[in-house]
Amino acid sequence: MVKMPSHTLIRDPKVECMPIEERRQLQFKRLKDLVERVYIQSPFYRKHFIEHGVRPDDIKTLEDLRRLPFTVKDDLRENYPFELFSVPVKDVVRIHCSSGTTGKPVVSGYTHNDMETWTELMARTFTLAGVTYRDVVHNAFGYGLFTGGLGHDMGARKIGAAVVPMSGGVNNRQIMLMEDFGATVLTCTPSYALVLAETAAKMGVDIKSRLKLRVALFGAEPSTEEMREHIEEKLHLEAYETFGMGEIMGPGISVECAYHNGMHMQDDHFLPEIIDPDTGEPLPPGEQGELVITTLTKEAMPLIRYRTRDITRLNTEPCPCGRTAIRHFKLAGRTDDMMVIKGVNVFPSQVEAVLLRHSELAPQYVLVVERVNNLDRLEIQVEASDEFYNQGRDNIEQFTKKLHHEMQQMLYISSKITIVPPRAIQRSEGKAKRVIDRRKETNQI
Ligand SMILES: [Zn+2]
Repeated sequence: MVKMPSHTLIRDPKVECMPIEERRQLQFKRLKDLVERVYIQSPFYRKHFIEHGVRPDDIKTLEDLRRLPFTVKDDLRENYPFELFSVPVKDVVRIHCSSGTTGKPVVSGYTHNDMETWTELMARTFTLAGVTYRDVVHNAFGYGLFTGGLGHDMGARKIGAAVVPMSGGVNNRQIMLMEDFGATVLTCTPSYALVLAETAAKMGVDIKSRLKLRVALFGAEPSTEEMREHIEEKLHLEAYETFGMGEIMGPGISVECAYHNGMHMQDDHFLPEIIDPDTGEPLPPGEQGELVITTLTKEAMPLIRYRTRDITRLNTEPCPCGRTAIRHFKLAGRTDDMMVIKGVNVFPSQVEAVLLRHSELAPQYVLVVERVNNLDRLEIQVEASDEFYNQGRDNIEQFTKKLHHEMQQMLYISSKITIVPPRAIQRSEGKAKRVIDRRKETNQI
């Protein structure tokens, strides 16, 4: 559903509303520069190109992009820490990396210009959401090696907003400071926004009358339309979904405009393609597949045809907001998150869409996949709302049957539904863990 826009702010209309043909020329010029640059400066890409029999001269049109080889996450891991840099470390001014607790992290480096570009793209991102210098931004994304906290910080500061560098955690204090500082904008993961709404309720703080929040920028994890609506209602604000990836830059790759009909990719800097994840072949416009991104302007660590493993579709239709940057739809999920259960593809987002239709449930759930007698078994654990939980076991049993039927229609497989008491599922201060796949450890026969 297309919503009416709440504002019409555009930070840089000359670039953001550039005619399509001019945009394509700019993309081609930047692609050509990029390919020549990495061929000379990056031993990794020079070797990679030679192995695939392609030279910078072969790139004669924008469509020739597809002649270049892909870059995958393993390339980043295998070239840890700095082998993928295209500049000497003396020219790098910032290093971020992934927060994984096992193995070597995925590193991303930035030159001074990269930091300037990132800051500008985050300033555009805030402006897309109608945020201005008048706002107070409560930034609950984690500060540190994770790009979320600092990325939002730089963009908000650039537009002159007041930033509260909060990070996640100490939930009561978050509510207190939002109230005392008069925060108008919240930036965090959607799952953490849920935690904050719950915390306010527990503290007896009426969000509508005591907090001034009007906008949220959500990122770092996908969420369904149903989840967005739920959070908007609980926190009394308008939510904007953003997309980012640490290895590509961080937040700021794409964001919804005020029409909330897909996210504009900032494609003067990030060139998107959609491919068939199995064959690697580019798919026609509008078809769903894996998102591949080429960083057109990054200096320290450019990535060519980087396979994001995110599943989405591009939308080439003009957007009524006037921006000409291509849009992509909500991410259907990450190829990593896609579970194959009994031979059927299942995304957590499909489960979420069904669960959030029901006021009997709280929007907290976890999917547990096990293997019993060599067969996959999916259990969906979801919390009951306080009110529903007090209505007794018979009601819950009846409702579980109904939900089981609905879920089967959505997923095409049968699952076990377990309704658990309110607040039984562990909360997250960052990205929520929605899937526990125990199949490797649990083939009980
Ligand atoms: Zn738009």
